[in-house]
Amino acid sequence: MSNNVLVVAEIRDGAPKKITFEMLGEGARIADLLGGHVEAVALGHNIGEAAGILGHYGATKIYVADNDELEHYTAEGFTNVLSGLIKEIQPALVLLGATTTGKDLAPRVAARLAVGLASDCTGVAVEDGELLITRPIYAGKAIATVKETFKPHMVTVRPNIFPAPEPDASLEAPMETIPADAGEVRARVVDMITEAGDRIELTEADIIVSGGRGLKAPENFAMIEELAKTLGAAVGASRAAVDAGWKDHSYQVGQTGKVVTPTLYIACGISGAIQHLAGMKTSKYIMAINKDPDAPIFKMADYGIVGDVFTVVPVLTEEFKKMKAEE
Ligand SMILES: Cc1cc2nc3c(=O)[nH]c(=O)nc-3n(C[C@H](O)[C@H](O)[C@H](O)COP(=O)(O)OP(=O)(O)OC[C@H]3O[C@@H](n4cnc5c(N)ncnc54)[C@H](O)[C@@H]3O)c2cc1C
Repeated sequence: MSNNVLVVAEIRDGAPKKITFEMLGEGARIADLLGGHVEAVALGHNIGEAAGILGHYGATKIYVADNDELEHYTAEGFTNVLSGLIKEIQPALVLLGATTTGKDLAPRVAARLAVGLASDCTGVAVEDGELLITRPIYAGKAIATVKETFKPHMVTVRPNIFPAPEPDASLEAPMETIPADAGEVRARVVDMITEAGDRIELTEADIIVSGGRGLKAPENFAMIEELAKTLGAAVGASRAAVDAGWKDHSYQVGQTGKVVTPTLYIACGISGAIQHLAGMKTSKYIMAINKDPDAPIFKMADYGIVGDVFTVVPVLTEEFKKMKAEE
């Protein structure tokens, strides 16, 4: 078993996703404490260029599995290739994103290797050479510290928790082509339908403006979208707004929706039910706009405006527009 950390890169549309850089940064820190290096593996088709970028973010070696059978993610194909590599190189720790793909892939790989998995990690410490992994449990009501007894340790990492290092184009890492035989794949991807337009993905957004039942009607989401557009933010929604049919489920933030960790989360007409908080309480800054001064969201908020969303949101949008025009 080596002391190295292996980061499983996520590549989309020919480029690594931000979570990959965040894992490389954190992976390098942990590898340092363990006395090893951070390495990366990229799976896909025609991904040589994207894989090369991983070196600029600190990967000291890049394993590349390039094959047309890996063009689209499949749990079976990716598990076959990845578990083969892990058995071969024996890293101390494997990091995957707690993303749609990572949440699907990591448990399957862990089962194949007969090891444990700590999912949705928000912190890692090393004590006496042992890894202590921090992860929220009970919908974020408590934080557990987990010590994995199996090796290699496997962890999925919550996006937007760890800072991504600044890229350094002078850093180059050797690339090694690894066997890319997907093996027997019973499920095949026949089509990929991307969400409309250039909508910012909630789990990757730096700023999110979310609307709840306080918006009263679906057409009133237009002012949330306007504020979001002004800030370059993603739009989110509470379950009440989704259940009412004002937004589809892909917008829902919370226990049964998406877990988000933006720098700024603006909750508009959202009460702050525990199930909503479970999806956004690890945001760096929370701003709430609610006409009820006793709304629970204010207990969690860094900035609170007690007021009517129909008055406050348009004023905010105008003010931000003015600020941007002056930039
Ligand atoms: C198993 C389970 C899972 C769940 N999962 C989720 C989940 O993933 N995500 C989620 O969001 N919820 C989830 N819920 C539902 C959750 O309990 C709440 O019902 C929901 O979050 C409420 O949404 P809301 O805050 O938009 O609505 P409400 O609780 O009705 O709050 C509306 C808020 O708007 C304010 N308001 C009204 N008018 C105005 C105005 N003009 N200006 C300013 N403020 C105004 C009110 O004061 C109020 O605080 C779940 C529930 C269960 C049981």
